[in-house]
Amino acid sequence: MRELRSMYRDQYWRLLEELRKKHRRFELRRGHGGSRDAAEEAEAARALEGTTSVCQEPSCEARSMPCVSYCFAHVALDETQKLYARAADGAPRETMG
Ligand SMILES: [Zn+2]
Repeated sequence: MRELRSMYRDQYWRLLEELRKKHRRFELRRGHGGSRDAAEEAEAARALEGTTSVCQEPSCEARSMPCVSYCFAHVALDETQKLYARAADGAPRETMG
């Protein structure tokens, strides 16, 4: 019984950690925490910054990332950002330092 409880606890923390990672990824891609209020706040902040909520790549309809006008797949097209660069396969990679 004790062993089962310890296995359950391990599994619980693994799932919680996975949820935390996925939520972080969601926040990065969508620019808000997921609630309706957070989405409206993020939208208002975008309007103030002058960035759009839809990717500026003409063939793409994905939502743009916070502070830029491109989605994650096209963020390397934005010349004003310095966090991502295009890797050999064309996908954006974080630049280190
Ligand atoms: Zn895009």
